[in-house]
Amino acid sequence: MNNINEECGVFGVFNCENAAEITYYGLHALQHRGQEGCGICTTNGTDFYRERGEGLVTEIFNKKNLAKLKGNCAIGHVRYSTAGGGGIDNVQPFLFRHHTGDFSIAHNGNLVNSRQLKMSLEAQGSIFQSSSDTEVLAHLMKMNRRRDRIEVIEEALNMIEGAYAFLILTNDKLYVCRDKNGLRPVSIGRLNGGYVISSETCALEAVGATFVRDVAPGEMVIFDKGKEPENILFAGEYSHKICAMEFVYFARPDSEIEGMNVHTFRKNCGKYLARLAPVDADLVIGVPDSSISGAIGYAEESNIPYEIGLIKNKYVGRTFIQPSQELREKGVRLKLGPVRSLIAGKRVILLDDSIVRGTTCKHIVRMLKEAGAQEVHVRICCPPMRHPCFYGVDTSTYEELISAQLDVEEVRQMIEADSLFFLPEEYLLKAGYKDELCLACYNGKYPTHLYQSKGELNIEHKF
Ligand code: AMP
Ligand code: SF4
Repeated sequence: MNNINEECGVFGVFNCENAAEITYYGLHALQHRGQEGCGICTTNGTDFYRERGEGLVTEIFNKKNLAKLKGNCAIGHVRYSTAGGGGIDNVQPFLFRHHTGDFSIAHNGNLVNSRQLKMSLEAQGSIFQSSSDTEVLAHLMKMNRRRDRIEVIEEALNMIEGAYAFLILTNDKLYVCRDKNGLRPVSIGRLNGGYVISSETCALEAVGATFVRDVAPGEMVIFDKGKEPENILFAGEYSHKICAMEFVYFARPDSEIEGMNVHTFRKNCGKYLARLAPVDADLVIGVPDSSISGAIGYAEESNIPYEIGLIKNKYVGRTFIQPSQELREKGVRLKLGPVRSLIAGKRVILLDDSIVRGTTCKHIVRMLKEAGAQEVHVRICCPPMRHPCFYGVDTSTYEELISAQLDVEEVRQMIEADSLFFLPEEYLLKAGYKDELCLACYNGKYPTHLYQSKGELNIEHKF
């Protein structure tokens, strides 16, 4: 049903025994951020070892191949194909062999000026191995002949623009870098005298690490053996424009992003929706998993009972055989089932995190009505998505965004709901007690230049 691409996750270990195994568990906890491919690269101080493949963490790794990944330092990656498309060559971490020292890179996010940089690097003699924009950073690092590695990375980071959490592993150091707007999250934890790094804190919990702090926008943290971690701020200007969709949809509810618990954020969104768009109804339900917290918030605020009205089948994986059109028309349902006895004859308030193309919501409203719901009132935990994202969430064209084509009343008619309300953007900020968030897919105010980063879209904003 959903083939819009999203996000990735990165995980790193510095100076811990069984680094590969810890990374395996870390990536497993980040699996929701990408199921297309995954990989781990380790070093024992002299050699690098890498294993990667297309599939889930549990499909790609086993005891045998993990045992081959030697060393106390590791980086790992789970991916959805964003820039560059699919295929094994695009599965990270990337490993670069160079006479000045091998190194490996894992990246979450998307660069907006990679096309321009790639063209200029190719003109100077670079040859790219993959179509991923992440490789650009490696080439920039090696174009620069200056000795000091930190300076070299700093300079390269100042040439790229977009969203990133980069983990760069050399034979003796781990560098963690976050873009100057802080679009993607990345956190540091402590484990057994060493450190672990993760896109989300849920993976720190999963490996038993203690949260230390988030990496700040425009910060590079350098882990070096026998030393306390160093840090530098590499950009001239900074902002805290973390992606609002991290809170709304991507992140796991048990993660804390920049001091805000994701479940609490979503619950607050539900509460605001109850205040702003109340309606007489019998029960509140949420689309699992990402809208359950919002539904609980709405129910609490409105005093209308929360019910588990939709059940998700968690075993619809990547390799699941999709039903034929004929079976689909006969009503074969893969992912979600309604709890008919709860819903029949009831006025239902349905919370959903977001509407992208509108097909999922339409399908669910129909399913609830077929299960006997008298009325279905849809409440969406974010504003209408009217603009593409260029920062690693592949909603890349205006055509695929229903709210870029239709106004709210037209969307209501299209999804066949009795009423529809989207949470206004100021309430997203309030829900997270934030002054700033990236809200570009709702309001078109992109925090970076865009450089015609996708297709021939010729919009260039900087706010
Ligand atoms: P649709 O409107 O049919 O495109 O689906 C919207 C649903 O997809 C939302 O309710 C989310 O649960 C989920 N969703 C939102 N953004 C994304 C994304 N970038 N990639 C994949 N799924 C998403
Ligand atoms: Fe996130 Fe939307 Fe900004 Fe993309 S445009 S980073 S999805 S808030």
